[in-house]
Amino acid sequence: MCSAASEPSLPPTSVRVGVVGGGQLGQMMALAAHRLGVKLTCLDPGGLASPTGKVCGAAVTGGLADGAAIRKLAAEVDVLTVEIEHIDTASLAAIEAEGKVAVHPSPRTLATIQDKLLQKRHLSTVDGVSLGDFCDVPDAAALLAAGETWGYPLMLKARTLAYDGRGNAVVRSAAEAESAFSSLSRGGAVPLYAERWAEFVSELAVMVARARDGTVVTYPLTVTEQRDSMCHTVVAPAPVAASVSEQALAVARKAISSLWGAGIFGVELFHMKDGSVLLNEIAPRPHNSGHYTMDACVTEQHEMHLRCVAGLPLGDTSMKVVAAAMYNVIGSADGKLSTTLAAVDAALAMPCAALHWYGKAPPKPRRKMAHVNLVGGSRHEVAIALRKLEAIADAANG
Ligand code: ATP
Ligand code: MG
Ligand code: MG
Repeated sequence: MCSAASEPSLPPTSVRVGVVGGGQLGQMMALAAHRLGVKLTCLDPGGLASPTGKVCGAAVTGGLADGAAIRKLAAEVDVLTVEIEHIDTASLAAIEAEGKVAVHPSPRTLATIQDKLLQKRHLSTVDGVSLGDFCDVPDAAALLAAGETWGYPLMLKARTLAYDGRGNAVVRSAAEAESAFSSLSRGGAVPLYAERWAEFVSELAVMVARARDGTVVTYPLTVTEQRDSMCHTVVAPAPVAASVSEQALAVARKAISSLWGAGIFGVELFHMKDGSVLLNEIAPRPHNSGHYTMDACVTEQHEMHLRCVAGLPLGDTSMKVVAAAMYNVIGSADGKLSTTLAAVDAALAMPCAALHWYGKAPPKPRRKMAHVNLVGGSRHEVAIALRKLEAIADAANG
């Protein structure tokens, strides 16, 4: 293993980081790595053709659950990290135990988070973190029992491999329970759990960075809006009462302090009708709700993640603008590039907008293609720009 100390010709930040996954989050990590002087290599089935590989120019080609491929990546780097949690944590744990290559966040954290039921069980033991009711659903009878207790609707969720709402099913009545269980579990093959329906007034999210020594810092709280269970817009800072904001930041800080290893984490929260804040879920990596930081904060989230995992000093989470928003450009339902590009064209013509295009081809329905950050000197100014962008994109999408 080579380290910065043994290579005096390299800048002090020249640590080699391997990222498991090659999507857009890895791509934005690669851009930050280049700025910092960190050498990034990714692991992805697409190799150098993946969104990350195209930018960092160094890749191992292989699957994210392929232990041999993860070992190949480990052989080339000083630190391993992830840009997605759906990976082989057992191989990462074995590499961590050998002690030659650091793994951040710890595989223990990744294994806890990648199974949403294990994640909930862990968080339910953490002082100061409130969760909605949840239970294991090994069969349709357990789902019916949950419905009896909580009433309907309730949310049935896949324990693993869930993202963008794929893996969630709303169960509206006892009559739907049998078919919902069998279709989401694919005949019992996919393990499920259930959550009581959360009557939220809004969804909140906050990025939390955790250094190798366990120091935890938070970014500003945001309000997120989901469409079809996918992140649609993010507004920062969240226009909520100070008491709500303090509660949300405290919950997020406590949750991340309870985990292991370094990195940035996205914490999704429900702001409930009664003013309480419940934790929905944690992502152990840069997160869509933190994309606004790329244009609005002193240290953006992907750079912060690299600083954390590489053991560099933490950056500055504060905003350098008064207000910001993020709009996700999603592949349109009609599959046409021109429809998807309506928001992109509009953003390019707006003075306060910054486009971040991921270079994925072709645009597929429900595929995240890009995001647009909007920044401004007042909440009002940013809200108007966001509404304008949404209106143009909605009109194009019919
Ligand atoms: P992500 O892409 O954020 O990882 P995911 O597939 O893990 O998404 P969740 O975050 O569990 O899915 O849920 C997606 C969305 O569904 C939430 O943001 C929220 O809008 C809604 N949702 C989730 N759980 C509940 C619940 N218990 N009650 C009501 N709505 C919920
Ligand atoms: Mg999730
Ligand atoms: Mg989520």
